[in-house]
Amino acid sequence: MPLTLRLSPSDALVLRRGHPWLFHGPRYPGIRSAQAGDVVECVEEDGTFVARGLADPEPPIGVRVLTRDRRTAIDPPLIARRLAEALALRARFVDIHETTAYRWCNGEGDGLPGLVVDLYGAYAGVQVYTKAWHPFLDAIVAGLQAARPLDGICTRDRVRRAPLPDKGREPDGAALRVLAGTRPPADLVITESGTRFLASLDEGQKTGLYLDQRENRRRVRGWAAGADLLNLFSYTGGFGLHAAIAGAKRTTNIDASKRAQEAAKRNYALNGLDPAGHRFFADDVFDFLARSARRKEAYDIVICDPPSFATSRKGVFSALKSYRKLAAACLAVLRPGGMLVAASCTAQVTADAFGEALRDGAADAGVDLRAIATHGLPPDHPVPLAFPEGRYLKCVFAVRGG
Ligand code: SAH
Repeated sequence: MPLTLRLSPSDALVLRRGHPWLFHGPRYPGIRSAQAGDVVECVEEDGTFVARGLADPEPPIGVRVLTRDRRTAIDPPLIARRLAEALALRARFVDIHETTAYRWCNGEGDGLPGLVVDLYGAYAGVQVYTKAWHPFLDAIVAGLQAARPLDGICTRDRVRRAPLPDKGREPDGAALRVLAGTRPPADLVITESGTRFLASLDEGQKTGLYLDQRENRRRVRGWAAGADLLNLFSYTGGFGLHAAIAGAKRTTNIDASKRAQEAAKRNYALNGLDPAGHRFFADDVFDFLARSARRKEAYDIVICDPPSFATSRKGVFSALKSYRKLAAACLAVLRPGGMLVAASCTAQVTADAFGEALRDGAADAGVDLRAIATHGLPPDHPVPLAFPEGRYLKCVFAVRGG
């Protein structure tokens, strides 16, 4: 007999509307003694079926919902079906001819909460954010293999106590484990909108690419011809490289990590660009901006794509202060009429709050800033409308007044 939870009316409503999580609470002591991955039935007080999901005895999330259809069992065929549907969605909405690295399964957004799969060429990288998926790893592997041919499937565990949805953005030291096929080669090359990147899945922190910014990198291409572009938090060069390919006069990449800068240079060379024609500084962004402002440097385009600043609700205030400070510092080195591309991947910071931080930063810098577009996650990162917590990425394209 599966564990049955009698939901409070408000929890029942939240799940009926499509939210995929039921939190632990005094009303549901049974989850604490469940095994991770046990199937749980959620019913209303009168016994009416609401949802079926997987138990996680570790707070805060007690049940991750896989179905609200009473007739749907949670078993390997369901997982295989969901993975196949997820891949079909990417085939419709991602340019898979120009792009060979994308998010195949975005957890909650693909009906498999807590399970993320990224595709890098012929390799799939599985990340589980809850132990509830551990009993299903074989089923996941089988489902992936049934959906398309793969050279290898590997995994990196991301289970931690407070699984927030700004996925792929948190520091990560866990080792890579091969689940099937071969280990991805260190020199694996993938393409993103036609641009080639080395994706070293195997290197501790380097988990390949930040796939969530793919469309914003492509958008920057459209405006980059002839520009002097500053790429802050450049990682392996993404925005800068796309701009350079599109004919930017010069790109300047700033990242604290020396290794990321070495990888960025290799990526430029891989696309037939001479890294010597561009700049790669292993430096702190705030220090670099302060020095550039003193030297009165002025760029045509400034990209600012920092890591997540807050991992808890308490950190939101300091995150907003950091965004404001960063925006002001970026605007100090942006020429009048130039474009600021400012991103936030902090899940707890809403698009409105981020806009206000940018507004305040512009006021501090004494300049006008007009947004011409604001973008969120790309189509390979679908998010249920009932799960706004999942929409962590905000990217504002704004023009500085003259
Ligand atoms: N824009 C990138 C992704 C950025 S990820 C892309 O499109 O691929 C964030 C990066 O910020 C990491 O590479 C990290 O090394 C760097 N970083 C974090 N804090 C920093 C700081 N204070 N100064 C410079 N780089 C920093």
